[in-house]
Amino acid sequence: MNYRISHRAASLSPSLTLAIDAKAKQLKADGLDVVGFGAGEPDFDTPQHIKDAAAKALADGFTKYTPSSGIVELRQAIAEKFKRDNGLTYKPSQVIVSCGGKHSCYNVVLATCQEGDEVIIPAPYWLSYPEMVKLAAATPVILQTTDATDFKVTPDQLRAAITPRTRLFILNSPSNPTGSLYTPAELKALGDVCVEKGVLIMSDEIYEKLVYDGAEHVSVASFSAAHLEHTIIVHGFAKAYSMTGWRLGYLAAPEPIAKAIDAIQSHSTSNPTSFAQKGAVAALTGPQDHLKVWLAEYAKRRAYAHQRLNAMPGVSCVNAKGAFYLFPNISKTGLKSTEFCARLLDEEKVAAVPGIAFGADDYLRISYATSMANIEKGLDRMEKFVRRLVK
Ligand SMILES: *Cc1c(COP(=O)(O)O)cnc(C)c1O
Repeated sequence: MNYRISHRAASLSPSLTLAIDAKAKQLKADGLDVVGFGAGEPDFDTPQHIKDAAAKALADGFTKYTPSSGIVELRQAIAEKFKRDNGLTYKPSQVIVSCGGKHSCYNVVLATCQEGDEVIIPAPYWLSYPEMVKLAAATPVILQTTDATDFKVTPDQLRAAITPRTRLFILNSPSNPTGSLYTPAELKALGDVCVEKGVLIMSDEIYEKLVYDGAEHVSVASFSAAHLEHTIIVHGFAKAYSMTGWRLGYLAAPEPIAKAIDAIQSHSTSNPTSFAQKGAVAALTGPQDHLKVWLAEYAKRRAYAHQRLNAMPGVSCVNAKGAFYLFPNISKTGLKSTEFCARLLDEEKVAAVPGIAFGADDYLRISYATSMANIEKGLDRMEKFVRRLVK
């Protein structure tokens, strides 16, 4: 049998972050004392009242198909969240609930992009974006940034990359993997370019609630009616409510795009899990107190890790403004990211994700969504490793 794999599937690179996480977990299961900095998920448990709501829905028999784009109660709660947190007015019909924020992103790309289209993606990028664009048979156009500009693209850089084929610009602020956060003025300027050029923006705002030092997340959709018309917001429950395994995300889009995505979803996944949606309603409408506690803990870890990384020879690290990642520059150690991370895992049993996975080979991603004790131990080991490389 000739198991010919389709062009689209064959063009993909499997997710390196998931692979590294799996390898670290395997080494741990084999009895090795591995410190994992690879995780892209909070180390906190889902708040109890959210679990209770889903458990009750399950016990009550809420176990059947729902509308494919999600229950009205949840889409209403999401519309209210956008009003309350972002000052944005969406009808529930503009909101689609999907099986994770990742699924929402994929739906957006699939509904808006096709062969011949270009999608502008600033690097370092979340590693799934270019692969999603390839699955849609469109072409990723990467805009390189470095730590010298806090990993931000400028309006001039964006403008220069736009061609008649440009369909979509992907924004992710706060960013995975860098933790970088655009200021409102910077965001507005990027949005202005897209409005002027008629380019759609996919704004992945999943880390909205995880910002530090009194910084504020603002949605690019909120600057004017034109910005709103040009923007599709992707969001989810994974990060702010620690619900990664629930597989629930959502998007808000102009009506024609929401309709197209509803159609795609109705023929692919159908609805996201029924009782999980009830948990999500509780997440959005219930108490938000857990966030303060989590943010204080993340902030402590970030400050510690940032200072430790900068004290290592050959390593420099700009501070993150959001999310739960640091993205240190390791170019002065003489190693590229793949070798650095492979040897760090082999020699010191520390798992981190090589920057090359995010389109930036001089860096690695350190997730501080792990205990302070782990962070201390892992950074002690990384320092030992780096001191052997840099005299
Ligand atoms: C975690 C994450 C998502 C969504 O994750 P799901 O688990 O699919 O909800 C989306 N975008 C970025 C940048 C992320 O880091």
